[in-house]
Amino acid sequence: MIVDLHTHSYYSDGSLSPKSLIKLAEQNAVEMLSITDHDNVDAYHQIKTVQTKIKIIPGIEFSTSWNKIGIHIVGLNVDIQSGYLLNAISYQKKIRLDRAEIIAKKMEKFGLYDAIEKIKLGKNVNQIGRPDFAQLLVAEGIAKDWNQAFKKYLGSGRAGDVKNDWLDFKAVLKVIKLSGGVPVLAHPLYYKLTNSKLKRLIHDFKLYGGEGIEVINGFQNPQKTEYLKGICTDFDLKASIGSDFHAPSKWTKLGCKVSLISGLKTVW
Ligand code: AMP
Ligand code: MN
Ligand code: MN
Ligand code: MN
Repeated sequence: MIVDLHTHSYYSDGSLSPKSLIKLAEQNAVEMLSITDHDNVDAYHQIKTVQTKIKIIPGIEFSTSWNKIGIHIVGLNVDIQSGYLLNAISYQKKIRLDRAEIIAKKMEKFGLYDAIEKIKLGKNVNQIGRPDFAQLLVAEGIAKDWNQAFKKYLGSGRAGDVKNDWLDFKAVLKVIKLSGGVPVLAHPLYYKLTNSKLKRLIHDFKLYGGEGIEVINGFQNPQKTEYLKGICTDFDLKASIGSDFHAPSKWTKLGCKVSLISGLKTVW
């Protein structure tokens, strides 16, 4: 069986429309799919009337702050009409716009001007994220490629990595639960925490209502998968799997094999 519970459409920083994403999932024999855009559920309005054999699980990937560290939490099977969810989304929207203004200002010292206006011209969706700045830095020849844009200007510890006030970790867990969803800790190894800090994070995650953990996120070496399987069992969490797909040309392929996590309790 092939499942994918972490994907992005063009309503956040993905390249495909939700409809095209579903088409691609059909081609890849995906049986269960969640579109988990960053901090919004707009994709679900576009696909309300889409006919597909794939089981679609409404989802979202929230940006949160845990001890000043940016942590992503995926909410699966959320009620996209929930007032709790919609409130949280409108808060994040404002934070994201404020952050974009700050990033734009910071990028001026590297020779990037009027970034917000330029980004808005290039897209018809009103979410701005660091990938939009990366694209612009490359287009203007300030960074040679996307990787360098993150390494030099936007990634961890760089000028564009603005410490912003995303909803608190605990608050997001509460919102997901109140919206009827299952909270899943996204890509636990992406944050590059020490072992003990990662365990503290997972401890807090469980304490505040977290239920699942991504044992697979995109292409990942088998050692990492084994390590995360251990954590999943030790903390008595349910396993989730997802490609974190953003675009066909990028580093991941849509769809994950369930056989890779056999033996674990799963979120579905
Ligand atoms: P934001 O939600 O605006 O903070 O942007 C975060 C997004 O940028 C992530 O979801 C990734 O899609 C992308 N991203 C973050 N770090 C990197 C990186 N080092 N290289 C490439 N893409 C990245
Ligand atoms: Mn992304
Ligand atoms: Mn993420
Ligand atoms: Mn993601």
